[in-house]
Amino acid sequence: MNWLERLLFPPSCQLCGVPTTNDTLCAHCASDIHVIDTACPLCALPNDDGSVCALCSQQPPYWQSAHSCFVYDGNLAELIRHWKYRKQRVAQALLCNAMTAWLVETQFITTATAIVPVPLHRNKLRQRGFNTSYHLAQAASKALNLPVITQALTRKQHTQSQAGLSKIERHRNLLGAFDLNIDALKQHEHVLLIDDVYTTGATAQICTQLFQDKQVNVHLLTLARALPPNEVAQSLAITATKP
Ligand SMILES: [Zn+2]
Ligand SMILES: [Zn+2]
Repeated sequence: MNWLERLLFPPSCQLCGVPTTNDTLCAHCASDIHVIDTACPLCALPNDDGSVCALCSQQPPYWQSAHSCFVYDGNLAELIRHWKYRKQRVAQALLCNAMTAWLVETQFITTATAIVPVPLHRNKLRQRGFNTSYHLAQAASKALNLPVITQALTRKQHTQSQAGLSKIERHRNLLGAFDLNIDALKQHEHVLLIDDVYTTGATAQICTQLFQDKQVNVHLLTLARALPPNEVAQSLAITATKP
């Protein structure tokens, strides 16, 4: 940005528009973003002590571990919508940098030796122009120094939007939607599967099943974790920290 652009387009908060020193968020908007520090190690549901939650104790997921950087609510959800549906590149840069920063700040370690983004069907990719999971995978790759493999997992059929579907309907919708080419994985036995938002975990569960059928372990990382309805009230107790 040169001096003329700075004069004509001074930097502002990406959500409320107040003047800022750079094109990020103002302190007020950033204070509404909830970083996940401790959570259930199997479903990334935030808690105070990092213990396995009741649901995972009863019915453990197929993956080895799950982590998520932020709670999917308020301003973070708004930023994700700006990126996904309004295609705002500033939101993309903000969120990808936030994931890199979270991985560095939490000193994230993993036994995964490669990163696999949850793919979009090629029609959807053409329509949207980009895959959020791919960009997040690149951000994680930068922090963890692991290769990103995009050829192994592909989406076969164009599933209808998952929004507004029940858990059972989502699962049915996703069954048979993915394909795994194990040769493209080049003998990596532990992968870090990356998605933008963990809602019910249905998408990740289907992908994990495919990897596990080929004796590949999956560790899950998502940018944001949606809270089940009964947890939303408790989320107010989560410490609010800036990304
Ligand atoms: Zn603001
Ligand atoms: Zn859990």
